[in-house]
Parts: sequence; structure tokens; C-alpha cells
Amino acid sequence: MTDDRPVFRFAPSPNGALHLGHAYSALMNFEMARETGGRFLLRVEDIDRERCTPALERAMLEDLAWLGVSWEEPVRRQSAHFDDYARALDALEAEGLVYRAYLSRGEIRRLVEARERAGDAWPRDPDGAPLYPGGAHETGADDAPYVLRLDMARAVERAGAALAWSESGLGPEGETGTVEADPDAWGDVILARRDTPTSYNLSVVIDDALQGVTHVVRGRDLFHATSVHVLLQELLGLPRPDYFHHDLVLAEDGRKLSKSNRDTSLRSLRDAGATPDDIRRMIGLDQ
Ligand code: GLU
Repeated sequence: MTDDRPVFRFAPSPNGALHLGHAYSALMNFEMARETGGRFLLRVEDIDRERCTPALERAMLEDLAWLGVSWEEPVRRQSAHFDDYARALDALEAEGLVYRAYLSRGEIRRLVEARERAGDAWPRDPDGAPLYPGGAHETGADDAPYVLRLDMARAVERAGAALAWSESGLGPEGETGTVEADPDAWGDVILARRDTPTSYNLSVVIDDALQGVTHVVRGRDLFHATSVHVLLQELLGLPRPDYFHHDLVLAEDGRKLSKSNRDTSLRSLRDAGATPDDIRRMIGLDQ
């Protein structure tokens, strides 16, 4: 018998304390799964072995349980699956879509500044970072440090037809319905580093596919990254989930919440006496 229940997931990184924004996303996924008779998975996105710690992970799971969220076991931890990402990377490399990029952060900055001084407005990605000014022609000594980047022009060509995804939420400009992907806007994205042999973009698409995720519900700050995700899905022959990008919970000054912002961490609110129902009220999920 096939299991055709929808599959939702919440995929936090244990590199800091969960805040109100995480609570919103976790509860939204959990409730959408419940309302649709679907499954709810929790995935620990801990590829950054320096910033993600077992103590932070424990605190994160405890905060979620306190909030009233429950998930299927076992939890998938990305750090236990570096092999899965390496295989996908090998497949992309075998197609000539990946190259070793040797420019350091400082070199990138200086190159971009030089081009801008010469009068060219250098393109920025949707997060505001300059596109990588190097390219697949780079060479370096055997022992020179490098990262692996996707050759975006080739990748887009190899993907062929224009790519799109189904958006049931909203993008920053109100985009909804069928949204055309624009992976070129990101340039040659990093797929892996020496100390972290994968990247957020690569592992997220592999895991969503391996876990059979059918509905990705996450914050609007990841809307534009979806263009890279659908491109990688196409190149790797992976299914495409439906996407729902939700509102971000903002701090009182209107800024994005961050993991270093103490006042909105679930832990500090809880220590100050807040109940899970108070949290739901604070994020507008109390009906
Ligand atoms: N791990 C990512 C984060 O904490 C979320 C990934 C996703 O939902 O696609 O921001």
C-alpha cells in the first residue's frame, strides 16, 4: 500500500536559541500536517560543526516539545549523512557542473571593488552579496584552499527549459501560484567547502527528497533561495515539493529576529513566565 499522506518538516539549525520566528514556523508546519492528515518530521540542519552543538540541539528539542510540537522518530541529523551529499556532489561534478573556486573573501571583495571603480555596477544576489567574480577557468596549486561552486551558466543550460515551482504562500513582492525560478540571480553558488563538505542549498534538496517531503513551509527569507533549490532538484532528478513561504515574525523595531536576540528566545520568554499559549498569542496563532 502506498502512503500518500502529505509530508511536512521543520528544519532548524542548532546554532543558537530558538526564537518566536522558529515557534511560528514549527507550529505552522505541525498544524498543517495535522489538518491534512499528514506527517510531521523534524530535521536537524547541523552541517556547521563549529556553530552547532549537542547542547544547543538538546535545548532546541526541549523548547519544541514544551511548545507542544511532536515529531516522528528518528530525527534526521544532517551531520550523520555527509555521504548522501557527497554522492550528489559527485554526480554534479561528473557532469562538469562544479568547479574549484580559489578566490578568498578578501580577493572577491577587492575584485568587485575594482570593477565597480571602473564603472560597472557589479550584480548582487537576492541577499545583497556580490556575485562570484571568478569562474570555471580558475586554477590553483594542489594544496591551495578552495570551495566547490556550481557553474551556474552551465547548470541552467543543462536544466534546459525554464523552471518553476508552485507557491501557496507569498514571496516578498507578493509572488504566488506558479513562480518562475531565477537561479542566475545567485551566480555560482557554493556547494561545498573543505571544512563543511556540503552546503545549505545542497543538503536541503537532498534531504527533502530522501525524506519524501511534499510540502516545504518556511519563512519568506528563503523564498529566493528556492530558485537554487528547484535547479538542483532538476539537475539531480529529484521530485519538487510544493512551497509555502510564510510571514516573518519581526522584532518590535521591525527588524528580523536573530538567534542572538535574547528577548525573543523561547527560553527567555519561558523563564520570564510565558506559557505555550502566550507564545501562540504573541505570534498570532491563537485562534
Ligand atoms: N535550516 C534552515 C534555517 O534554520 C531552514 C531550512 C529550510 O527550511 O529550508 O534557517
